[in-house]
Amino acid sequence: MLSFTARPSATDGNTGRVTVIPAWSNDEVRVGVAALLKVWDHRLPPDRTTAIVIKPNLNNDLVALSGNCTDLRVLDALCAELRTRGYTDITIADGSNVGIARRGISTFKRLRVDSLKARYGIRTVDLNTDSATPVVLHDDAHPQVANTILNAGFLISVPKVKTHAEAQLSCAMKNWVGICRGQDKRHMHYNLSRNIFAINEVVQPDLILVDGLVGMEGNGPGDGEPFRFGQLAMSDDAFVNDAVIARLIGLEWGAVPYLLHALEAGLLTRDIIGRIESELAVIRPIKRAPERSRLAKLAENRSLEWLKRTVRPIVQKPEVTEVAYKLRIVQDVYFLEDDTLRVVGRAAEKCGTCTRCVGFCPTSLTLAEIGVKVDLPDCAQCLYCWWVCPNDAIVLEGEPQGMARQIARYKKDIEKL
Ligand code: SF4
Ligand code: SF4
Repeated sequence: MLSFTARPSATDGNTGRVTVIPAWSNDEVRVGVAALLKVWDHRLPPDRTTAIVIKPNLNNDLVALSGNCTDLRVLDALCAELRTRGYTDITIADGSNVGIARRGISTFKRLRVDSLKARYGIRTVDLNTDSATPVVLHDDAHPQVANTILNAGFLISVPKVKTHAEAQLSCAMKNWVGICRGQDKRHMHYNLSRNIFAINEVVQPDLILVDGLVGMEGNGPGDGEPFRFGQLAMSDDAFVNDAVIARLIGLEWGAVPYLLHALEAGLLTRDIIGRIESELAVIRPIKRAPERSRLAKLAENRSLEWLKRTVRPIVQKPEVTEVAYKLRIVQDVYFLEDDTLRVVGRAAEKCGTCTRCVGFCPTSLTLAEIGVKVDLPDCAQCLYCWWVCPNDAIVLEGEPQGMARQIARYKKDIEKL
């Protein structure tokens, strides 16, 4: 386990520590999450009835193994560990991006995060429809922040590690954009980097668990390539956490504008940054996000918001969004129908017994059980076993609907992880 402490002599307990542990298979994730929580035991609330809110990154409906969203293995291991420790009030809450919110798509359903309700008796809350309270940020941004977040007794942020075409890095600080309700997330883009920093000043997580298993590089956050990072990290400080993660993926911290704002505000210092660079080695250099197209930048122009609203009924159609995707104006194409895919078997004659499916199964099924135990709470129907199988040995039934597009885009990449 690797550890960095930003303020070793802090007397108020705010040491800005980040602890990192390698993990890749589901077993390693469970061991890693338990080990990190043991290190951070002092941080957990003593009252087992505390309302714990877990805020993952469910940015859109892309399977987590693309690197886009929080991995169900991490969420399952975290819920299991919290339950083992006796916590009785656990909620998973997030507000997916504005395109998802506008179409009324449930990422909890599509990403099978809902399955954790049956497995651990937790609740899920869509922050896009939550009651909310306005906060004042910069450049006239005044988004409403979901009350489930503001009223949490203990807040755990579970971000991914991704490139971001606008913000450069998406990790703990960028994950906080998702606490703004629905279309209010647009306010953040009035001055994205400054407002990412500002919203992290308004409300801070009590604990951060970074899902650095499968990251996304290149054209993130919604259209990059997955890469094997194979790390979990835990921290109590989003600013130091993101500076450390930037270092571990070889992203120069000065290239991440919201970290510069944290430096200006004194929440990071040159000394802390210098020590991160001298004490920590790069684990896996990330491929940076490409320059955004002129059209993409134009589409974010605030003065054209009226035009966007006018043409939205046309632009929202998948065939039109597909053209915008090809022109690199948008990263995502959405379909209204949920997939109905289910794992219903494993074809023994095709199976090479590589056990990749076992390593990716969030519910810890054995090879003999995969495709046999197919109902909750044993199987989350997350399809991870199918995504990673190189031999097409996992038998599915149902319709992919819009998932066909992400299968064409990501299946081969995910098989090679
Ligand atoms: S990943 Fe596919 S080939 Fe490998 S053990 Fe699982 S089902 Fe068999
Ligand atoms: S068996 Fe497959 S579909 Fe079921 S939980 Fe495991 S990985 Fe997901």
